Amino acid sequence: MSPRRLGVMGGTFDPVHHGHLVAASEVQHRFGLDEVIFVPTGQPWQKVGRDVSQAEDRYLMTVIATASNPVFSVSRVDIDRGGQTYTVDTLRDLRTQYPDDELFFITGADALEQILTWRDADELFTLAHFIGVTRPGYRLDGHHLPEGKVSLVEVTAMAISSTGCRDRVREGAPVWYLVPDGVVRYISKRGLYLRDSG
Ligand code: ATP
Ligand code: MG
Repeated sequence: MSPRRLGVMGGTFDPVHHGHLVAASEVQHRFGLDEVIFVPTGQPWQKVGRDVSQAEDRYLMTVIATASNPVFSVSRVDIDRGGQTYTVDTLRDLRTQYPDDELFFITGADALEQILTWRDADELFTLAHFIGVTRPGYRLDGHHLPEGKVSLVEVTAMAISSTGCRDRVREGAPVWYLVPDGVVRYISKRGLYLRDSG
């Protein structure tokens, strides 16, 4: 079997929203990916200081949001490893699980800019090709990124963030059409984001 092209979309997904889904779908199309694997993080070190929702809630919302797309799937590697997530561990685990396939790590341009400060930055580029997705109002300074290892993709402007969705829920504003219908219902069923958690 020829190697498959696998997208890896890491995120806190607290909650997953249509910005994530549009970005993954666009990259899947442009890069001819066979599958995009969403990987909800364990406790992310960038976000210490704020309570991140329970991993199982974030995992289930991601499953609900992606279930109808045949080329989307969700991996538990980061959640099951536990503790803080480092992208290098995510990619090492997926490389072990899919030794013959090509990995494409999809990340927002904001996160990509910090990539060289991530743990084991040099190894990261040997494990996967990196695809930086530009968000609205964001311009990436690509100077410092290693040549040939990173691609930038502009995605239809979707000014949606998880932070914005959480704020809206806390204020009693609707998140319909910002997140998939099933995620709206899950948030309400579980009473997520009602309190200011940090
Ligand atoms: P938070 O507001 O809590 O930081 P977020 O909306 O940035 O959440 P994350 O789970 O942190 O969501 O994002 C996962 C990945 O998706 C990151 O690489 C991020 O840059 C990217 N991303 C988030 N929102 C968008 C968007 N609207 N368009 C494109 N990419 C996005
Ligand atoms: Mg973010």
